[in-house]
This record gives sequence, structure tokens and C-alpha cells, in this order.
Amino acid sequence: MESADIKVYEFELFKNHARIVHGIFTRAGGIRKMGITPLVFLNQVHRSDIQVLKKDDNGLSENFQPGIEPFTADGIVTDIKDVFLVIRVADCQAVMLYDPEKKVIANVHSGWRGSVKNIIGNCVDKMILEFGCQPENILAGISPSLGPCCSEFVNYKDEIPKTLWKYKIKDKDYFDFWEMTGVQLMDKGVKKEHIENMEICTKCNTDVFYSFREEKTTDRFACVISMV
Ligand SMILES: [Zn+2]
Repeated sequence: MESADIKVYEFELFKNHARIVHGIFTRAGGIRKMGITPLVFLNQVHRSDIQVLKKDDNGLSENFQPGIEPFTADGIVTDIKDVFLVIRVADCQAVMLYDPEKKVIANVHSGWRGSVKNIIGNCVDKMILEFGCQPENILAGISPSLGPCCSEFVNYKDEIPKTLWKYKIKDKDYFDFWEMTGVQLMDKGVKKEHIENMEICTKCNTDVFYSFREEKTTDRFACVISMV
């Protein structure tokens, strides 16, 4: 995405793919200013459901009205071109996925609850099952989000299952959800070199991004991906 006065962050991994239009907007916003449309929003509820939008589903293309009614889900995967999948976050991760072979994109909202439920693995499964994607072809980008520097979970014994305590930082109540997402992707067969994490902590960078933990804000910044 390009604009003279609107700052948009992009993944290096997607830059060479002419079919992909994507960007992470800052707290300055700018989606509507840039005239991006149609937008597909999700009613994000911190669960692990993935909305599947297929172009060959009977009637869907005609009846489907992006931007009118948000789907209640925390991830969305589609092979439909020219729609902009939007995930809104402030500390949670937006994970964008693209399979250049099958021409399928996804955008996933993964906060700590989503990470615990492995929503990202669930999304890769949907790409495989619904669209015949092969995980070794899938590219993945992880948005600015709460880093291991700031992911303190004082109640982790109640909130995070023991199987995930391996992501706890030694001698601290902090967790590395960045690493967790990487491992969840690789466990599904996504290649390490196909995963890009911006490694920008939102709580450490509230001049640019929103952080719920730092600001207790209801504002979110938008992470958008589309295929042309
Ligand atoms: Zn931080």
C-alpha cells in the first residue's frame, strides 16, 4: 500500500508478491482515507473460530456484502480477490497468511486466549482442508503485538495451560507469545523461513501503536490484507 502521508507497515515477506496488498496501520489510522474497500470486518470474540469465504460457494459471491455485517469469528480465510480482510488489535497479534500456489489469504486475531486455543494452527488446518493448501507454501506475517518484554501474566497458573509453560521466561511471570505463534505455525508444517515477525512490541511503542495494557484503550489499529 502506498500513500504520501499515511504510514503503513509492511512485511518484507509479502513485498515481492504482486497479488498481495497489505498493511498495518498505526494509531494515526488512514484506511478510509486511502479509499480501501470493500472491507471485511470481524466481530472478534477471543475464540478460535475461523470464517471461511469461498468464491465457489453457491450464491456467496452474489449475496456476500463485505463491510455490511461483520462475521463473528477471530480469523478469516478466503480465495476471493479484491476484498480487504481486517483484523483490529491493541497488543493482540494479527497473523496474516498467504498461499501463493492456491491463491488463498487469511487474517487471524490471536490474543493470548487465541494463542492458548491455537487459533493460528486452526487457521492453517482450514487452509489445508478447505482450499487444499500445502503448509510448506504458506507465508506468515506476525503484526506488532505484546512482546516477551511486556507479556506479564501474574495469574498464569489459572490462565495458561501447563503444556504452554515452556514459553514462560525463566524466573519471571512473562511469556513469549511471539515464539508460541512461530512454533504453532511450524507444528503445522509452515517453514521457519516463511514466517516473519515484525518483533515490534505494542506496549513499548505506544507512540505508534495502541496498547491495551499500557493505555487501557478501546482503540485498535488495523491490519489489512487483500489479494488482487
Ligand atoms: Zn515491550
